[in-house]
Amino acid sequence: MQRIVIIGGGAVGSAIAYFLTQTPDTFEVTVVERDPSYQQASSALSASSIRQQYSSAINIQMSQFGIDFLRAVGPTLRVEDPAPDIGLIEPGYLYLATTAGSSVLHDNHALQKAYGVDVVLLEPAALQARFPWLCTDGLALGSLGLSGEGWFDGYCLMQALRKKAIAQGARYLKAEATGLRRTGRSISAVQLGEAASLPCDRVVNAAGPWAARVAAWAEIDLPVRARRRSVFSFSCPESLAHCPLVIDTSGIWFRPEGQQFICGFAPAAHEDLDDLPLEVQHEAFDSFIWPTLAARVPAFEALRMKGAWAGYYEMNLFDHNAILGLHPDCANLYFANGFSGHGLQQCPAAGRGIAELMRFGDFRSMDLSPLSFQRILQNRPLLEKNVI
Ligand SMILES: Cc1cc2nc3c(=O)[nH]c(=O)nc-3n(C[C@H](O)[C@H](O)[C@H](O)COP(=O)(O)OP(=O)(O)OC[C@H]3O[C@@H](n4cnc5c(N)ncnc54)[C@H](O)[C@@H]3O)c2cc1C
Repeated sequence: MQRIVIIGGGAVGSAIAYFLTQTPDTFEVTVVERDPSYQQASSALSASSIRQQYSSAINIQMSQFGIDFLRAVGPTLRVEDPAPDIGLIEPGYLYLATTAGSSVLHDNHALQKAYGVDVVLLEPAALQARFPWLCTDGLALGSLGLSGEGWFDGYCLMQALRKKAIAQGARYLKAEATGLRRTGRSISAVQLGEAASLPCDRVVNAAGPWAARVAAWAEIDLPVRARRRSVFSFSCPESLAHCPLVIDTSGIWFRPEGQQFICGFAPAAHEDLDDLPLEVQHEAFDSFIWPTLAARVPAFEALRMKGAWAGYYEMNLFDHNAILGLHPDCANLYFANGFSGHGLQQCPAAGRGIAELMRFGDFRSMDLSPLSFQRILQNRPLLEKNVI
């Protein structure tokens, strides 16, 4: 049996463990997770939404598999009764654009339609008719997903993947990986502190926002950094009928969460530093998020702040997309990193892909090679225009 060690037991590491253990007696899978309570893991601090509206084909394809997987999570990941219920709902994403931004929406729309995405472009009058609570001032166009887009309980998904992987034979070890023992072009063991180590035939880096540290142990430069993102939750006295996840022209996004709403934003580049402490940027909410939200949805003038949290995007600084597979300098270290804020929806496709790469030596169900390390080494970014 091939001994596989996965460093990181979040949604991505657990999805890989799940797919690897689907075939018994091939792989002996150990997931090394330092914090089984997942206090700082992105998978536990996510907005847990899924969309099909991407500007690159590979991301659309990954999300198409993602939504199929999420729709079938109950029977797929059931270990015992009750089957996991991730509460998936599909009210869509609504991208808003000014005149300047509408050509990007048109370009994306053409690609999305070519890949069968259920999406429609709406002029301001149509937006107003469909969403009477929306102020369309300054808008030229909106792009609305009609199915396959929405949100779910990401923590529940991660736990369901973990439980199913364990039921299929994976072992989760509460330990911190501290280094890799490298012999020539291969990793022979994962170090667990001074005294202990785990011998292995292959290693997976699924360390989320901390993945660059793991790569550095193998002398590989991984352009992934932990970038803090704050999420705010609030209530509103008015309900907004059929509210999708709305991405305003300012970049601020909001969506319903049960009876309330959540929202977030991307900080300005000069403030978006690596490894900032996970403290909520409350000042950002008061100074510009709330005024911007209230201008777009007048009912939000009366919103009430209910809570907030901060988590890390595992940002791929090279091109904001996942990095999947081997690095040419190391024969048995697999990467599943850099999802840049879309890793929960992509974890089923990434997990299946890495498992196939290990089993067959190439991707079978979906060609994920556009996301390989090669593009970084050859300086060919796969730019995704729709990063939220
Ligand atoms: C605010 C926010 C909103 C988001 N919204 C969305 C969204 O709407 N849709 C979407 O698809 N994605 C979203 N994301 C991104 C998504 O949550 C992540 O892409 C995904 O969770 C990454 O999963 P992961 O398993 O790679 O990382 P994590 O969940 O961070 O897991 C990595 C694990 O590795 C462990 N680890 C790290 N180093 C070591 C080590 N040396 N030894 C042992 N264990 C180690 C950590 O403890 C951690 O548990 C969002 C993220 C944030 C923060």
